[in-house]
Amino acid sequence: MVNENCYKLGAEPSVIRSLFAYGLQQAAVAGPDKVYDYSLGNPSIPAPAAVNASIKDIIDGMDSIQVHGYTMAPGLSDARQSVAEDLERRFSLPVKAEELFFTCGAAPALISVIKALAVSEDSEIMLLAPFFPEYLPFVEHNGARAVIVAPDTRSFQIDRDKVETLLSPRTQAIIINSPNNPSGVVYSRESLEALAALLERKGAEYGHPIYIIADEPYRELVYDGVEVPFIPCIYKNTIVCYSYSKSLSLPGERIGYVYVPGFVQDSRELYTAISGAARIMGHVCPPSLMQLVIGRCAGERPDLAAYDENRRLLYGSLSAMGYECVKPQGAFYLLVKAPGGDSMAFSEKAKLQHNLLLVPADGFGCPGYLRLSYCVAKDMIERSLPAFKALLG
Ligand code: PLP
Repeated sequence: MVNENCYKLGAEPSVIRSLFAYGLQQAAVAGPDKVYDYSLGNPSIPAPAAVNASIKDIIDGMDSIQVHGYTMAPGLSDARQSVAEDLERRFSLPVKAEELFFTCGAAPALISVIKALAVSEDSEIMLLAPFFPEYLPFVEHNGARAVIVAPDTRSFQIDRDKVETLLSPRTQAIIINSPNNPSGVVYSRESLEALAALLERKGAEYGHPIYIIADEPYRELVYDGVEVPFIPCIYKNTIVCYSYSKSLSLPGERIGYVYVPGFVQDSRELYTAISGAARIMGHVCPPSLMQLVIGRCAGERPDLAAYDENRRLLYGSLSAMGYECVKPQGAFYLLVKAPGGDSMAFSEKAKLQHNLLLVPADGFGCPGYLRLSYCVAKDMIERSLPAFKALLG
């Protein structure tokens, strides 16, 4: 006998992974240049040179036992101090190393915060569609219930009124992901301020804070100088979950953090509960080598030129053909309305007729749309354009 929930999750095919596997299989049959794979959000720009140089330097120059040994569970103090200083410099906030808890990326960061806030069986965590599909298992298998706010498909900004109708005394937190996966939209300051005012008012009415969990793996991936407001500067009760997976192109190295600002209500209690939640998940410490690297490279930023070029090419070309696209301001995703309205059927047709792999956004809470990851080679985009055209014809 095995746990039924775990079995179901393990057996459930992931649409994204299935498309990716299909692409690999077709590449062997038809040739790699005849497959147009927009499925995975795996960074396609290399990690900054300073990251690789630091790895070499650390390996060559430091004691091996120390480099590969356990660290304290929240992470190395020096590395956390570097991150705190970087955040302070950028956002003019007082940030302390003790407010940071290093994790193996954003996924475990989110789960520990959710677990820490799941105070009873009916605790609710609100999700704004479109959202990263893994939020559902993160919430529903860690003691809380997911409450989904339907997308505002006119702007893909936060629909304050819809949020208000779904808030309840059971609402513990709302996850905000900006720049957003899958829409590429950056929530505006105005939209965030309206949400903050609502949460303040409702929190006072319910007699407990409603936390914002800011999921920010794409914080630095932004184009055209669009502002990505730092949410703790707008709303006091914000807990940040960050990852270097996308910003430093290190998704396989598993490094990120939770930041619980000192001014958050019950911040120390929360921080302690987050470390307890991490312990339940078997967290010991994130890779020590990566902590050392972040200690040296906290101020590094990605070179976005290649993503930006892809963004302009894909958005410009598909829009010119007549596809309805959401203009991406950040991350590396383009959300496109499925011609005919059935995203599953369109994705299947694109796959079978053209080896064009587009992810139906139904699992992101946004049926009728397709997600395209443009962290790919530019020439693949160029080669795929006739297939997009043929699908419209
Ligand atoms: N949150 C969002 C919105 C994501 O898109 C992803 C990964 O794609 C994650 C969290 C998980 O990131 P990590 O690789 O750091 O666990």
